[in-house]
Amino acid sequence: GAQYLFAGEDLHPGRLGKLLAREELEVEEALHKALESGGLSLHYQPILQVADGSLEAVEALMRCNCEGTIFAPSRFIPVAEKTGLIIRLGEWSLLTGARFVSRMLADKQRVKVAINVSRAQLTAPKFTQTLYAALACSNAPPELIELEITESLFMDSSDVVQRNIRAALEAGFPLSIDDFGTGYSCLASLKDLPARKLKLDRAFITDLPHNPRSFAIAKAIVHLALDLGMSVVAEGVETAEQYAILSEMGATAIQGFYLARPMPEPQFDEWLAMRRST
Ligand code: C2E
Ligand code: MG
Ligand code: MG
Ligand code: MG
Repeated sequence: GAQYLFAGEDLHPGRLGKLLAREELEVEEALHKALESGGLSLHYQPILQVADGSLEAVEALMRCNCEGTIFAPSRFIPVAEKTGLIIRLGEWSLLTGARFVSRMLADKQRVKVAINVSRAQLTAPKFTQTLYAALACSNAPPELIELEITESLFMDSSDVVQRNIRAALEAGFPLSIDDFGTGYSCLASLKDLPARKLKLDRAFITDLPHNPRSFAIAKAIVHLALDLGMSVVAEGVETAEQYAILSEMGATAIQGFYLARPMPEPQFDEWLAMRRST
């Protein structure tokens, strides 16, 4: 990664560029292999309601395993976006998430899954078809498949994006605004967005309780969203203290390592079974 590249002796821009290009090719190749040979997986991270500790949803987070090396999204999503592979990855995660929902329902568990949707997917005219295909292939109800869309993508004024967002809503998929607070849109934009849920970005939570500015921003966003009738998920809660602060602020639900890490499907099953038995 970049850390390794910058840690060594001085790299002049030409050499750095070549290294980055090689790394990109390596990741691209790994993604192709993973798509062909079952190397992709979704890890599921629980999101818990503050009010009663119940499972609000799980966020599905993609992992790419290529010949024993696991690539994290921060490495492969940017490459996938650049090469257009993200469309196939996105279709795969929608379908896999939908199948997860129906497998859970078959076990009498109503679990909502939240799937991240990329810009490339939302700018593709066939996005709606992909949504219907995921429903048809899985028999999952759309209300259990939440689409996470970043704030700046919601604000994209292109016709096709706005049409895709409306079509997803009309098909019954709940929408949430991911990474809220880090885009460049203004708070006033919240009044017009068709999402019922906002996910407060980890950036404002990481340095709590020590940073009073983060505290002020987090509090303002939570209160505004609640006043607008939205629910609020706090992302990236890592400590008991952060949990207490965010629940005190009124956050509806919490996601973060403090409660649970993203887990492969079998481990999530165990996690769920353990909760039910206690
Ligand atoms: P995101 O949608 O904001 O997902 C939350 C990220 O925060 C995940 O990183 C999760 O592992 C991490 N996280 C959760 N709780 C904590 C915590 O307490 N502390 C810390 N430090 N991190 C926490 P991950 O899995 O590495 O994913 C990174 C990003 O990659 C996601 O951010 C999302 O934007 C993107 N991504 C992941 N899966 C997909 C996918 O299937 N499709 C698309 N388009 N993007 C994806
Ligand atoms: Mg997300
Ligand atoms: Mg997020
Ligand atoms: Mg994030």
